Amino acid sequence: MSAASAGSVMDVVGTHSAEAGDIALLANGEAAPATGAPDAPSSSTPATPSLPEPVVVSALDSAAENAQSAMLYAGTEINTQREIAEEQARRPKVALPAEGTFTSGFGMRWGAMHAGIDIANSNGTPILAATDGVVIDSGPAQGFGNWIRIMSDDGTMTVYGHMESLDVREGERVYAGQRIAGMGNMGFSTGSHLHFEVLLNNGSQHVDPVIWLAQHGIYLAGAGSVEGSSSIPFGS
Ligand SMILES: [Zn+2]
Repeated sequence: MSAASAGSVMDVVGTHSAEAGDIALLANGEAAPATGAPDAPSSSTPATPSLPEPVVVSALDSAAENAQSAMLYAGTEINTQREIAEEQARRPKVALPAEGTFTSGFGMRWGAMHAGIDIANSNGTPILAATDGVVIDSGPAQGFGNWIRIMSDDGTMTVYGHMESLDVREGERVYAGQRIAGMGNMGFSTGSHLHFEVLLNNGSQHVDPVIWLAQHGIYLAGAGSVEGSSSIPFGS
């Protein structure tokens, strides 16, 4: 009896060192036979919770993760709102006037000066104001079919040609990136495209729009070699 109880005490001590002191006292007080029975369940009792323990911990972890991700999401939302506000505060000063294929560069072409660049795309492709400014012309013009001219506050004038539809009127204030027209094939043009010019100094000095756009961080795909290489005959 005492040997068996000693053994059980040893087992308990071995598996449960935290209660070693209590068990030792019980063994010394010869309460071993009484403690033998309670000790067996008590020794297994701590072992049983130790199994679901990881599950409980992981549940807490996932709850914590959910809370954390919710906080992160809220943070992201706040950041997004802040970014929108900041974006509005510092809207791009210059926008690409149209998506499409760069088909003709600035310079001499067919023995004449091509004072702008051509960007080809399907009829109705949005034409965007390249700068903030005031619309100084919007309507028919020789060679251009239709044209729009926008004068920015810093004296940069942008010219858009061949549009099939016009969305802005003379005198209207526009901002960079605003849709002003739909691409077309009007005037001296052999396919739907935008003819785009940039003139500095209150519209008195033509510059290469590819270079001007690049100076404002906008790079036209396919416009690497400005002079000639891609001079598909696409109108003026
Ligand atoms: Zn052109």
